[in-house]
Amino acid sequence: MAENKNQDLKNLGEFGLIDHLTKDIEIKNDSTITGVGDDAAVLDYNNKQTVVTTDLLLQGIHFDLVYTPLKHLGYKAVVVNISDIYAMNATPKQIIVSIGISSRMSLEAVDQLYDGIKLACEKYNIDLVGGDTTTSLTGLTISITAIGEANKDDIVYRNGAKPNDLICITGDLGAAYMGLQLLEREKRVHDKNNAVQPDLSGYDYILERQLKPEARKDIIEFLKEIDVKPTSMIDLSDGLSSDIMQICKNSKTGCRIYENKIPIDHATSLMAEELNMNPTVAALNGGEDFELLFTISLQDYEKFSKETELKIYTIGHITEESKGKYLVTNGDQEIELQAQGWNNE
Ligand code: ADP
Ligand code: MG
Repeated sequence: MAENKNQDLKNLGEFGLIDHLTKDIEIKNDSTITGVGDDAAVLDYNNKQTVVTTDLLLQGIHFDLVYTPLKHLGYKAVVVNISDIYAMNATPKQIIVSIGISSRMSLEAVDQLYDGIKLACEKYNIDLVGGDTTTSLTGLTISITAIGEANKDDIVYRNGAKPNDLICITGDLGAAYMGLQLLEREKRVHDKNNAVQPDLSGYDYILERQLKPEARKDIIEFLKEIDVKPTSMIDLSDGLSSDIMQICKNSKTGCRIYENKIPIDHATSLMAEELNMNPTVAALNGGEDFELLFTISLQDYEKFSKETELKIYTIGHITEESKGKYLVTNGDQEIELQAQGWNNE
């Protein structure tokens, strides 16, 4: 059975596979002049600026196929890319997807990966306009490049934060990391005893945060609606500690963030307790939350009083560079933030 499936992929060949994967793609954006099918895609952004980012995902380094469904992997691969475009206060419009596939992979498996990629394209209104397809000897490799647009004056960089600006984040932190810890634990249990099936019931929230994250398109739209341009912004991919430090480094400032202001979901706290971990450490160092962290001037604060379903949390403020970068703990201690994160043990 498995061999037959592999045979499908071999019989199709590179061109057959590309055709199979891309034949049902319909262009959604005016800026896409030509998508898949020629030597290169052709885009037209008129007088807007173009924002480009890329990510490379390697099996065994960035994902583990033992517990990552391929459809989720495809979806997440797109989301992590376009999250970077939103973090520039821009709108993603096109992606380019390059894959290295091992000969052991079935056509069905590649289809699942693309189902996830296409689902994300639907949800975020993005055109898949090209890519490259090759055989890999070292497992599955996925490289996605995302292209977006913004008016020149709307782009938000990491270097614009000023002392007294408020530091905001757009959702709870640490859940994706705790989801990963759970998946790794169940994998170890399964490795020891194949008869034991993983028990993942009741852990839906943290698993979803790890396996199917979303990019914060809604936040970018809301900021436009209330006419707020953050002074700086970054997406939370590496953990709060290292990401706020990036803002401070680029803006030449310090910061104070408050432990009791960092939103942590109940499910994250429960899992942390189960694993004997500090949930604040998961929020600071875990990463993969894909929330946005941005700074706003005090004058803009009142604009956030507009009614919205969205949750935006103020967790601290920017200071002069000489004041350093600190976390104020629940016990009122000031602990210096570290790029590798902070640890109170
Ligand atoms: P070239 O030989 O010029 O690199 P390819 O045969 O690799 O062209 O690709 C043909 C077309 O299919 C191009 O438009 C390319 O962007 C697109 N393409 C190739 N691989 C993929 C893929 N994995 N996903 C989406 N589009 C792809
Ligand atoms: Mg090619």
